[in-house]
Amino acid sequence: MELSKSEALFAQAQQYIPGGVNSPVRSFRAVGGTPPFIARGEGARVWDVDGNEYIDYLGSWGPLVLGHSHPAVVEALKKTAEGGTSFGAPVEGEIELAKLICELLPSVDSVRLVNSGTEACMSAIRLARAFTGRNKLIKFAGCYHGHADGLLAMAGSGALTHGIPTSAGVPESYASETLVADYNDIESVEKFFLANPTDIAAVILEPVAGNMGVVPPAPGFLADLRRITQENGSLFIFDEVITGFRVGPNGAQGLYGINPDITTMGKIIGGGLPVGAYGGRKDVMEMVAPLGPMYQAGTLSGNPLAVSAGVATLNELKKPGTYEKLESLAQRLTEGATKAFQSAEIPSTINRVGSMFTGFFNAGPVSGLSHAEGSDTATYGSYFHAMQEQGIYVAPSQFEAGFVSTAHTEADIDATIAKVSEALNTLR
Ligand SMILES: *Cc1c(COP(=O)(O)O)cnc(C)c1O
Repeated sequence: MELSKSEALFAQAQQYIPGGVNSPVRSFRAVGGTPPFIARGEGARVWDVDGNEYIDYLGSWGPLVLGHSHPAVVEALKKTAEGGTSFGAPVEGEIELAKLICELLPSVDSVRLVNSGTEACMSAIRLARAFTGRNKLIKFAGCYHGHADGLLAMAGSGALTHGIPTSAGVPESYASETLVADYNDIESVEKFFLANPTDIAAVILEPVAGNMGVVPPAPGFLADLRRITQENGSLFIFDEVITGFRVGPNGAQGLYGINPDITTMGKIIGGGLPVGAYGGRKDVMEMVAPLGPMYQAGTLSGNPLAVSAGVATLNELKKPGTYEKLESLAQRLTEGATKAFQSAEIPSTINRVGSMFTGFFNAGPVSGLSHAEGSDTATYGSYFHAMQEQGIYVAPSQFEAGFVSTAHTEADIDATIAKVSEALNTLR
């Protein structure tokens, strides 16, 4: 595969940008090789600067549920840009996005817009601490909530791939306020509450984990957490940065019928532009400045371009049949891939919730970080490169989710399954 233009650009990038990338997961450190520089995307496809075409299952790491350059999103952006891109003053689009989010997420009475998922989670933690007057936080090994200090303890995604369980530069005093429990293991949470009955401000989790690869919540796990947090006066935070409007029209909270106190969002609600949000119960959100004493602000928050892309995306998603289509395409893909793995006799476990999925090189079951880490990451690396050769763009790490968009077709899925078989045959 010709990658000479990407290779030249990557060499240049490394001169001016640490590691040549603005987010470590893009660097291909986990799988080796040169990341293709992307020139263009349309629908379910991207093209790199050397002209290679790929069917894309990365979807910009989650936001692009409608695929690339969706006409409704592009139109909204053009129209908004012509009228000015930032005012630092209220605009009507902010209400539209906030109203859509409040209508769609049953537990969210009001919502504050920020610029990234990291900011959303960082602010949600501060809010939970402000509301409860407590300092400690429970998170789960393998769950990623952005790169704020204190949330990088045993975080997933790039932090896992790059072997940085806790980042350098995080004061021990911050990290010591974070208690790390095991996903789908309620006893590991009960233990912390017994030891710290009045100190825990919140439990934060990905209701469907995506950043250790996809791991669904075990039956009853979310309900148990809801009960324990309530009994102990702690807040329950759903990090729906990936799952929000991905696993269903009402997020993971709608899918599993659990109402968290605070929800964080990002990715899809920005339609491919930088956005995050945190929202929740009225009495909790009333702590946020200017109503209350919890300070949080942003020069570009509620940015007109970003909110118009988000509104366009959520309105497209509201059209009838959208989630049924995503479900059926993703099911078709994972069923076909499962058969391909079986006939290649390569041990695998494919986890999927809605249109997010991960194929682990591991006989499974994969229900937590220790299982995910039992995967054969060297084989994943070979598989990744074989797929790239075949024109299929998947995450450059075992510990990530893949995504199907509404722009994929059954023909794309069937072509992909055939490529999976070919790629797996090169590994035998
Ligand atoms: C991506 C992600 C974040 C961080 O969002 P950024 O926009 O990258 O800062 C937080 N939580 C989860 C679950 C994510 O997947």
